[in-house]
This record gives sequence, structure tokens and C-alpha cells, in this order.
Amino acid sequence: MASSQNFIRNFCIISHIDHGKSTLADRFLELTSTVDKRKMREQYLDMMDLEREKGITIKMQPVRMSYILNSKSHIFNLIDTPGHVDFSYEVSRSLAAVEGAILLVDATQGIQAQTLANLYLAKEQNLIIIPAVNKIDLGGAQIKETKIELAHLLGISEGEIFEISGKTGANVEKLLAEIIKKIPSPKGNPDLPLRALVFDSKYDSFKGVIAYVRIVDGKLKKGEKIKLMVSGAEDEAQDVGYFKPELVSAPELSAGEIGYIATGIKEPGKVKVGDTITTKISNFQFSISNVKVLPGYKEPKSMVYASFYPEKGEDFDLLKDALLKLKLNDASLVFEPEVSEVLGRGFKCGFLGTLHLEIIFERLKREFNMKLITTTPSVLYKIKERGIEKSIYSPQQLSSEAEEIREPWARLEIITPQKYLSQIIGLVKNKRGEYRDTKYLTAERAILTCEIPLAELITDFYDKLKNLSSGYASLNYELMDWRIGDLARLNILAAGERVDALSRIVPRARAYEEGKSMVEKLKEILPAQLFAVALQAEVDGRIIARETMKAMRKDVTGYLYGGDYTRKRKLLEKQKKGKKLLKEKGRVRIPPEVFLKILKK
Ligand code: GDP
Ligand code: MG
Repeated sequence: MASSQNFIRNFCIISHIDHGKSTLADRFLELTSTVDKRKMREQYLDMMDLEREKGITIKMQPVRMSYILNSKSHIFNLIDTPGHVDFSYEVSRSLAAVEGAILLVDATQGIQAQTLANLYLAKEQNLIIIPAVNKIDLGGAQIKETKIELAHLLGISEGEIFEISGKTGANVEKLLAEIIKKIPSPKGNPDLPLRALVFDSKYDSFKGVIAYVRIVDGKLKKGEKIKLMVSGAEDEAQDVGYFKPELVSAPELSAGEIGYIATGIKEPGKVKVGDTITTKISNFQFSISNVKVLPGYKEPKSMVYASFYPEKGEDFDLLKDALLKLKLNDASLVFEPEVSEVLGRGFKCGFLGTLHLEIIFERLKREFNMKLITTTPSVLYKIKERGIEKSIYSPQQLSSEAEEIREPWARLEIITPQKYLSQIIGLVKNKRGEYRDTKYLTAERAILTCEIPLAELITDFYDKLKNLSSGYASLNYELMDWRIGDLARLNILAAGERVDALSRIVPRARAYEEGKSMVEKLKEILPAQLFAVALQAEVDGRIIARETMKAMRKDVTGYLYGGDYTRKRKLLEKQKKGKKLLKEKGRVRIPPEVFLKILKK
């Protein structure tokens, strides 16, 4: 066994978003004839419809390839990773399953914020880094400059950096040879008891939870008894195998390999990423006593919170089941049940950012057919009320009795061509941020460090930054601390009734501006109702802005041809009554999309 292990190479492709990871993976799949030519399509490893529609990678995707060099057959286990900051937990988990990483930098963009962030993650895992400048086929490619930047960053010579094009395939085969040469084969002893690191998973209604694993030690065959060392769950391996990228059964998984174990476990909560799977050495005994649990993963910190409620109250259990199953495939999702007076039973959910929230919302809709109402996304505030501290994530929990509100601040790193520097500092200040310092990657490109309230970051900061830098500036951030802010609760009233889910916590100094823009936007995106609706913004019990939506006149008689006057009158009478009823109840139907749209430009 040990000899075949020598021919395994496990690696990731990492980079800033859009620098070409999935496209390079396509060329690898072709060179190794892993995917049937007829089935091949661009960014093949972006398997989810959502990924293809959005043109971004959301999930890590492992794939196994075989490649012959100098008449020796090698096994490559590649994990393609997402580049967006909201999915960095996918990257860090992938990196823990491999020995090396290809670091791609787009020659038309240079080093960007996630280039650095992901490189640091790879270095923390002591991975071998193979640097490559990508997109050399493009007219605007600044190959020389990008190589200088990268050489400087990595402390290596420019000669060690590959020049490739994932699009045309130029020099891509050289990378494969370099992987064999530079990245070590996996260590680990196939003769020791099984230790498999769970780095991802998904739910299968027949085979139970499918754990994506890196076999650290030992081996496993289908039918053997397995145990998750942390959760304690036990079952029998229904199947084992690898990714091509679809699941392909194999007779056995052995030390050094990346593959899957169909655990048979039907309770989603029993399988968590970071757990260690081991096996029984005899009928009665697991090899636990002499097996050390693998270190696993740090829990990611939620940045944004929102609540999900099923449109129909009786779907609460379905939603719970959907969230548990989705968490298997997205370990960064956190949730706990909560009850709202108006919306009933639902879940408070934590996300790594607003894109993450959007994706989860979409996946619940598409993969689980959930019809949901969501509240406006918010950060987590810490408030003091009559001397007692508590955390709140939704503005409804903020009463007028709060003596102190503290909000989360983030350390923000922006990489930008130096000519946009002063404008960007202006933007940061405009968003209540504080400038800290500037370092230079090269004379042309600066790394700006700032501190900024997280709430300002998660709204439209990113779009504004991209706009004013023609797309060249990029950002990365991490949570720092909670600081006292002069904040107020902004309420929205529709037809005189408070729409709790639209309340927000805003800086008091900007309450008027925010309130006005919210009612204006609402007027635009809210579907017309049967009666005229006053939309109002309120702060500290005072109305600060108002808009009126005209009534929609639904032509209920439209389908009646001819002049049956009595029927026509009857219908109109009925409609009038209906409107009156609605008016009395004052209920304005607010479709769930509104809560997500309201935060966008
Ligand atoms: P990822 O986010 O890093 O996975 O990037 P993708 O592989 O999805 O590529 C982002 C965009 O860059 C796509 O439109 C690709 O077609 C394009 N692209 C990727 N590699 C190259 C390349 O070498 N040359 C050119 N011209 N375009 C590329
Ligand atoms: Mg991708």
C-alpha cells in the first residue's frame, strides 16, 4: 500500500474570485481525461445550478484524476475552492485535507485581497505553494509586473512563477509536472486504525449522510462498522469511493486518499465537519482507546443574522429538517429556533455575509421547496438595558429602554491601485470608518488598513468600492470588537401599522436620510395593493418621512364580456367590500423578496 501512496498528490487551487480557478481545473480534467469530452462544459466543477447562474463557485468540489508521467501513473486529488470572502470557510476546510496549493493570480488584476487572505490560510497549514500568473493570453495582461509582485510577496525569484492561461491551456501541463515534483505525497499509515477527517458532507435519502473525507491513517471497505469519534454516532459504511466528480464506488479507501463514506446515518446533526471517523477492529470493539481524535476545525464567526419563517406556520418542522440537511453541505450556517408574535415559529440564522445569506435563502427555496419570509439582515448588537447586558440581532429586540448599544467593528484591508487611494479613504470615512495606515505591495499598489462598523460593510460598501476603483480595488475583513455607537431604531409603517421585519438599527445622525430612502425604495418595490398605502418612517416615536402608494384598481369585471350589468355591479360591490375589509384590517401583504431587496441599491 505504501508504494501506491507515493503516487498520490492532494492539492487545492486558491485565488481571489474570478482569477480562473475553475477554468484551470477544466484544463486539468481534460489533460487527465477525467470527464467525457461530450459532457465537458466551462467551469465543469461548478456543479450547482446556482453557481452556473451566478458565475461563481460557492462550494468546494473535490475531484480525482489520474495522470501518467514518465510511464508512472499518478493519482491527483484536486479540490476547487470558492474565492469570495463569504465562503472562506470552504477554503480553510479544503486546505486541511491537502498537502499543496496552486496560487493563481490574474495577470490583468494583480494581487487582490483574497489572494493574500487565502495564501495566509494555506501557509497556516504549512502547504507547499505553487504560484502561477494566469490569463497570459489577454491583451491587458501585465505578466512581468504581476510576477514581480508575487515574487516579492512569496519571497521567491520570478523564475519560480509559472505563466499560464487556463483558457488556452498554455503551460498548464507544466503545472501538472510541478505538482508531482514539489507537492509531497501524503503521509499516514494504512496499517494503523482508521482516522478519516470529515471536511464536508451532504445528505442522501438512501445512503444517509455522505461524509467527504481525507483518510489520514488506516483503511476502510464498504460494509465495515464506523464511528464518529466526537458525536459518538455509529453505523455501517454503506459505500465508499471517490469523486469523479460524481460519486464512484471503490473497493477500499486507504491512507492519503480523498473520498467519501456513505455513513448510513440518517440524523443530519450526528455528522459534523471536523469530526474523525474510525472503525471497529473486532466485532465488539472500536479502536477508540488508542486512536487520537484529529484536531478538526474552528467554528466560523457569523457576521450577519436574519430570521427565516415558513410562509405557512405548519411548515416549521420542514424548515428545521431543511436547515439541518443544508448545514451538512454548508457548515458555516448556524441557526436556532425563535418565536415571533407576528410571524410565528422560525429560526434565527447566522451567515458569513450577505451573499452567503442570499445563497442559503435560494438553496432552501430550490433544493427544499421552502417558501420563506425573512427579516432584514442585521449584525449582532450588544445592548445594556437596566444594567443588564444582552445580545440582540434584530431591531425588534431593541426597546426604548436600552441605555447603551454597542455594534461590531471590523478590521478592513483594501488592496488598490494607488491612484484611487484618496477616494477610497473618503468612502471609508463616509461610512463612519477610521483610516489606520497604508503599506505598499509595489510603488503602484497599496494595502490600506481601516476600521469600520460591520453594519456599514455589509450593505453597499463593496459595490461602492468596486465602482469608484473601476473594479480594481478588493477587500477582506475580520471581526474586531464591539464599540458604543449613537444608534437608533428606525421603524417602517405601512398603512399605519409597524412592519416589524423592516425595522433597522441606524446611526441616529443618519436616521432621516435612511428613513427617507427606505420608504422611497419600498414604494418602488412593493407590489401595488388594493388600497392606497401610506409608507412612513419613524424614529423615537416621530414620523420623519412619508410616501403614498396609489391603489391598484384590479379590473374584476374584465373577463365578463357583453353587458350583463347586474353581474358587473355585483362584482364591483364585492370588490368594494373586500377593499373596506382590507382597509379595516390595514394589512399590507409584503412579499418575502422585499426584505432582501430593500438593502440593495
Ligand atoms: P474562479 O472564480 O477563480 O473559479 O474563476 P473562473 O474560472 O470562474 O473564471 C473567471 C472568468 O475568467 C471566466 O469568465 C473565465 O472564462 C475567465 N478566465 C479564466 N481563466 C482565463 C484565462 O486564462 N484567460 C482568459 N482570457 N480568461 C480566463
Ligand atoms: Mg471557481
